[in-house]
Amino acid sequence: MADDMQYSEDHHFIPVTSIMSGIGQAVTSDIYCYPIQVVNVCFIGDPDNSEQWTLVDAGMPRSADDILKEVEKRFGPNARPNEILLTHGHFDHVGAIIDLIEHWDVPVYAHEKELPFLTGKKSYPEPDPTVEGGMVAKMSPYFPNEAIQLGDHVKPLPADGTVPNLPEWKWIHTPGHSPGHVSFFRERDRALIVGDAFVTVKQEYLYKVLVQEQEISGPPRYLTTDWKEAWESVKKLAALKPAVAVTGHGIPMAGDVLTDSLANLVNHFQEIAVPDFGRYVDRREH
Ligand SMILES: [Zn+2]
Ligand SMILES: [Zn+2]
Repeated sequence: MADDMQYSEDHHFIPVTSIMSGIGQAVTSDIYCYPIQVVNVCFIGDPDNSEQWTLVDAGMPRSADDILKEVEKRFGPNARPNEILLTHGHFDHVGAIIDLIEHWDVPVYAHEKELPFLTGKKSYPEPDPTVEGGMVAKMSPYFPNEAIQLGDHVKPLPADGTVPNLPEWKWIHTPGHSPGHVSFFRERDRALIVGDAFVTVKQEYLYKVLVQEQEISGPPRYLTTDWKEAWESVKKLAALKPAVAVTGHGIPMAGDVLTDSLANLVNHFQEIAVPDFGRYVDRREH
């Protein structure tokens, strides 16, 4: 491994897999969602052009080979993205990133406020196993939360909201789940890559994660530390009126189901998203 990069001290394989793992789905002709165990990565780009595409997020720990195989399947051998975009730096979104940077030698972009967690300066708060929820929440102390070190391979997203190499896309700051969390939006077809600002599976419940039961939910609870901001972020995304959404966890959602589910989440955020109890919940604020 290059000297200037290092996975977190607590980086390790997580032995949880859903039934959708490995079953990719083309959400539009140029947006492809690939589930790895319990998290999604996304390829943006026409599959006929192996030199003009982008990877969003970098999967679970030890998933680099899986990602590279799927890239080869979609874009052909030796395909290499222009860049890697990160919605945020949690362990399940940067799991394979160092292997991928070494393999492709491409830049990584993330929100400025996420950079301390990606450059070894700051660890995320400990996941909260006491939060209201199921088995995945209880397992969460086992999840890595320490900072990864990407050195100067990671750069801040441009301050003007543009996305390098993707002129049609804008990034949108959607904090709450993490301070520098971002989503990506394309006006032309109202495509939204959400990250974990909201998800389409109740990520705290092991059974629902395993079978990928589709159900809109706020951000995964055990790692979300600011519920007020998380709500504002969901409102911001709903206002964009997305036609299709690829979330960091769960099956992509589109059309009326998405519109209705998002409206429901905005209007009933307290009941649907915010846990009744947990370390990062202060219900008096709401
Ligand atoms: Zn996350
Ligand atoms: Zn996640």
